[in-house]
Formats: sequence, C-alpha cells, structure tokens
Amino acid sequence: MSTNSVQEKLTQLLDDAISAIDAADNVSTVEALRVNYLGKKGIVTGQLKQLGSLPADERPQIGRWVNDAKRTLQKRLSARKQELESAARGQQLNREVLDVTLPGRGNGVGGLHPITRTLHRLQSLFVQMGFETAEGPEIEDDYHNFGALNIPESHPSRAMMDTFYFDEHTLLRTHTSPVQIRYMEQHKPPLRIIASGRVFRCDSDLTHTPMFHQTEGLMVDEGVSFADLKGVLVHFLGQFFEDKLHVRFRPSFFPFTEPSAEVDISCVMCTGQGCRVCKQTGWLEVLGCGMVHPEVFRHVGIDSEKYTGFAFGLGIERLAMLRYRINDIRLFYENDLRFLRQFN
Ligand SMILES: [Zn+2]
Repeated sequence: MSTNSVQEKLTQLLDDAISAIDAADNVSTVEALRVNYLGKKGIVTGQLKQLGSLPADERPQIGRWVNDAKRTLQKRLSARKQELESAARGQQLNREVLDVTLPGRGNGVGGLHPITRTLHRLQSLFVQMGFETAEGPEIEDDYHNFGALNIPESHPSRAMMDTFYFDEHTLLRTHTSPVQIRYMEQHKPPLRIIASGRVFRCDSDLTHTPMFHQTEGLMVDEGVSFADLKGVLVHFLGQFFEDKLHVRFRPSFFPFTEPSAEVDISCVMCTGQGCRVCKQTGWLEVLGCGMVHPEVFRHVGIDSEKYTGFAFGLGIERLAMLRYRINDIRLFYENDLRFLRQFN
C-alpha cells in the first residue's frame, strides 16, 4: 500500500469519526465512539499496530499521521463531551429555575367557625364588663338541669324542652343554666360570670338544630337590681351589633327568674320598618332574662334576704345569624367550605 493511499484512508477515517462525534447527542454515545476509535481494540489503535508491517522508511511518516489523527480525535471527543455536559447542566438549571415574580401559593390555613367567632366576641365584651367565664358538663343530672332551677318534675316546661335522656336521672343539658347552679354551689357572692357551651334539644328545622350554643350570664351581689340587668344587656347588645339599637324588655315567664323578661331589639335587617325576618313587627327577640328566683338561691344556700341577682340566657346561633345575615341555621353545621370561608 502506498503512503498516499494510507493518507487517504486515514483522512477518510478521521472525517467519518468527526461527523459521528458531532452527531452524538449524549455523553454515553461519545464514550462509545472513543472506545470504538481509540480503545485498545479501536480502529486508530489498529492502525498503529499495523505500522510494523510497513517498510521501515515509511513508518515514521505514517506513524506521525496516525498519531496526529489520534490527537485530533481525542481533542474532538473531549470537546464534544464538554459541550453535551454543559448543555445538560443548562437544561437542568432551566428546569429548576426559581421565578421570584410568581405569585405565592398560600398556606391554606383554616379559619374560625362563625359560631366560634361569635362566642369569642361575646365573651370579650362581657369580660370587659368584669364578668368571668365558667364551664359545666354537657351530661347533666336531673337536679342541676331542672330541680335546682325551680323546674319540678310536673312542670310543663320540662315537656317543652324535648330533653334527650340517658336514663331517669341523666340527660344532655337542655340549657346552660345548670352552670349557674354548679358555680353558686362552689362560690360565695359577689359573683359575675358568663358560661358558654353546647346544649341539646330534640328539635330540627330552619331555626332549630338538635345541638346549639348558649351563653348564660349571672350576677349576684348585695343590691343588684333590674336596672343593672338592663344596663348590662343594653350595653352588650349595642356593642355586639355595633349599632344604635332600640331595645325593649317584655314581661315573660321562666321558672328560675322572677320577674322575667324577654328582650327584643329593633330589627337589624329592616331597622324596624318591618320585613320577613321580623315577621313585619320591626322587632327581633334575642334573649331571655330576669332576677334570680329566691327558690334557686335556696337550693344553693345563698341568703335571698341579703343578696339579689340577675341571670340571662341567649342563643349563639341566633346572634350569629342576625349579625352575619344568615337565614338557615343548618348552614352552620353542613361544613360547606364556600360558606365557612366567607367569615375568614
Ligand atoms: Zn325586619
């Protein structure tokens, strides 16, 4: 073989190798080409091995060409490898890019239930007036729920309350009033408490659920009068609804207070003009109250000759519905997030 044809062959080989290297689209292909051309059994290495069979005067020249080709390929291979590696790094960086101008995703924190918000608001208003909070059990005995509150066994209001009984003596409390009794059994006057919590009655429609929330208030001291009761409640209602409301006290009856009253406010929907919510009367009933009955004091050992007191009870759902303009009490307990999120 002439040196010319060897040179042509090498040139051809180099061209093929270079186009294969340029066409390689990943690092492992480049590595396979390196093995193919420059490995121990590679094509270029094979050329070097054949030098021995050439005439002695041609060997140096051809040996130089083969070595040149080898170096060219080595350079080309490592350059292509670097290109591919840096392209891959660039792609990865693009994928992981952090766009600081994107709007945040938010943490999806929850919010307080409208009933809880109403309870907190009410409690803070009474705490500002010097009331302390008290609690009692939801499972009550007959005595604390009825007897001690001057509701004897034959009393018609027991039937009115639609009580859930466990057995003859144990029941789910129908109001928060038993907390008054438990508190007065353990504390001496002067007393000023509010007690909030769940109460239970066998009842369900647009304005009643079997479980609802009440807050009970009690103030006992020497010389507490109906005027104190009026002052506290009128102040509370004005603060709660953040409005100049008309408040009226209507004579009523409860076994555990004497005298007793129901309290109406001017309708918050129509400001007293008359609408569907107030049944065209312009007034909304919001709570019941009265002066603690001497019979209740007798049960807890407080001297009714020395002390007087007032008590009141109100429904939290009722207040929340009026404040937030909600027309169906059941919305509070269906846990529809579209409803609940409006209060966050
Ligand atoms: Zn109205």
